[in-house]
Amino acid sequence: MNTLAETSVTALKGAGPKVAERLQRLAIESVEDLLFHLPFRYEDRTRIVPIGALRPEQLVVIEGEVLAADVLFGRRRSLLVRIGDGTGMVALRFYHFSAAQKNNLERGARVRVYGEVRAGGSGLEFYHPEYEVARGVLPALEKSLTPVYHTTEGVQQRLLRNLMAQALLLLKQSAPRELLPPALLMDSALPTLQSALIKLHAPLPDDPVDMLLTGEHPAVRRLVMEEMIAHQLAMLNKRAGQKANLAPRLASDGLRTALLEALPFTLTGAQMRVIAEIDTDLAISSPMLRLVQGDVGSGKTLVAACAALSAIASGYQVALMAPTELLAEQHLKNFLNWLSPLGIHVAWLAGSLGQKARRETYADIAEGRAQIVVGTHALFQDAVEFHHLGLVVIDEQHRFGVHQRLALREKGRQGDQVPHQLVLTATPIPRTLAMSVYGDLDTSVIDELPPGRQAIETVVIGEARRPKIVERIRNACLGGTQAYWVCTLIEESEALQAQAAEDTLRDLQIALPELRVELVHGRMKSKEKAEHMASFASKEAHVLVATTVIEVGVDVPNATLMVIENAERLGLSQLHQLRGRVGRGAEKSYCVLMYSGRLSETAQQRLHIMRDTCDGFRIAEEDLKLRGPGEWLGTRQTGDMAFRIADLMRDESWLEPAREMALSILSNNHHFVAPLIRRWLREGETYADV
Ligand code: ADP
Ligand code: MG
Repeated sequence: MNTLAETSVTALKGAGPKVAERLQRLAIESVEDLLFHLPFRYEDRTRIVPIGALRPEQLVVIEGEVLAADVLFGRRRSLLVRIGDGTGMVALRFYHFSAAQKNNLERGARVRVYGEVRAGGSGLEFYHPEYEVARGVLPALEKSLTPVYHTTEGVQQRLLRNLMAQALLLLKQSAPRELLPPALLMDSALPTLQSALIKLHAPLPDDPVDMLLTGEHPAVRRLVMEEMIAHQLAMLNKRAGQKANLAPRLASDGLRTALLEALPFTLTGAQMRVIAEIDTDLAISSPMLRLVQGDVGSGKTLVAACAALSAIASGYQVALMAPTELLAEQHLKNFLNWLSPLGIHVAWLAGSLGQKARRETYADIAEGRAQIVVGTHALFQDAVEFHHLGLVVIDEQHRFGVHQRLALREKGRQGDQVPHQLVLTATPIPRTLAMSVYGDLDTSVIDELPPGRQAIETVVIGEARRPKIVERIRNACLGGTQAYWVCTLIEESEALQAQAAEDTLRDLQIALPELRVELVHGRMKSKEKAEHMASFASKEAHVLVATTVIEVGVDVPNATLMVIENAERLGLSQLHQLRGRVGRGAEKSYCVLMYSGRLSETAQQRLHIMRDTCDGFRIAEEDLKLRGPGEWLGTRQTGDMAFRIADLMRDESWLEPAREMALSILSNNHHFVAPLIRRWLREGETYADV
């Protein structure tokens, strides 16, 4: 029986349907949910401080007798109530007050006041404090610390505390079901769920409040652990569920040899190792779920192409999905280059495709003529029906949620057979985080760049030296190489970005009349964008002015100079992605990070990290330190995987032990698995029933 979880908050006095609806904004539906809504701060209302001992800025309870209550007509009308307790005097000041309030606070009444001491016009004062008045004896003081909760509109602190007090009574009457095995609790010295919750909502005055707030206290850890374990189990379950599907066995044949022989270079050791890992996955009848992490320029596309050839050689289709049309176009170009000569039909599907072409493509896909389909989200559309999808490749995973990934898999489902999945990302993910976010994927790392790549030399300079940089572009381009000029803006507005890029285009065209300067930005028509990209790729254009749309996917090895304007506005990962557009050939490349105005401390730190290293993993780690995992993971964490209590940054060190405990529960205490997942995950049902 799990009564607290099954009891709606509406069972509590003071929580009608209106309040229940508002509580949903705090993810609270059941009494158990309510109990998982932890205080973020505590107030000490357990003892009375003598008025004579008050110091400014203290948050305290005092008690005393009203000596006088006067309305003052100063600059602002106020009610000043003087209180004494034999040790000293203090005043309460109200700028908003009613006649009843004033009458209530008459001379001789006993008051208890809670609030912050301030140095005011009449000595020490409390401004609009909470207070209670009594003719006789005031009620007993609180025995435990007073919790302060995050509230929501229409649910005030007082109401929330009141509901919580009722929930705590219920909790004390019937303990929630204990879902962590007793041995595990013993071994890690963790309290029961019941006592942990009581401790957190009603700690005693001498409990270590700091530890409760920093998460070091065993009561917090108990909840964090349980939650992390539940998440790990969900992940393991999901994975097991996916693995329980069948997938086609795929093997490469002469096609791959033909592709590799046609290339002007050989695979790196890391590429070969990762391809071998993929081959092993594809050769068995259970679906591959593999994440390939590789720094920008490490050659992930070719790895994906090799996997694609295995599917195609075995008579299956491949879908390759990228988050932006520009990136998808780059893949299209590569695959046309590499695979068309082998007689393979590469199809294209993106939002910009016209009606007629789209219908033809749908038919090609449905009837199996299209052997590989490259595209964007358009691949999800209902009208898209695959003939025989064997492999899904998703590039730059961090832009897609788990749901989208699964949706594409479901599109390719035929009975109990699903396609294999390969996910590519250039954003290296620290191991512990990967465990919580990509716990359902196997991981391969391409930890080697193609030979002959030289580190990109990066400089950080102020906007004032713009003319010098323009000069540098002139020299570089007249010397036969090409340059990018990236415009950035704080605003997420594509319109403004586009405007800034157009202004820069004009400026550069005027400053560099002997060079051809082209422009790409997100608001351009696809056709125009493609033409401008093409003229840059074919070296007709010397300079490409772009917004951050070129962050991913552009591949022009002859470009060796990149200027990033207002680089201070971008995060480390984004800068790293952008910079990865140069340094793709044998020539040495340069990156100019230009900033305007004064740099903030963190902006300076970021730019210096960029100057000092080109190692994507190091940059990712620094980025994580500067930003914290919440922001770093972005919506992915809040969307699919929101934690209620655990905080990935604060509690990172518990991830590994939680993973181990999850594995142990899976094999030794399997009956806890489903209830744990249901308790902690919002979409628990989806993950629990596997
Ligand atoms: P990313 O991992 O960033 O997606 P790409 O797949 O775009 O990298 O590869 C970057 C560039 O390196 C491309 O021009 C690609 O053709 C080239 N490349 C890939 N593998 C090798 C290799 N083994 N040797 C030399 N160049 C390679
Ligand atoms: Mg790539």
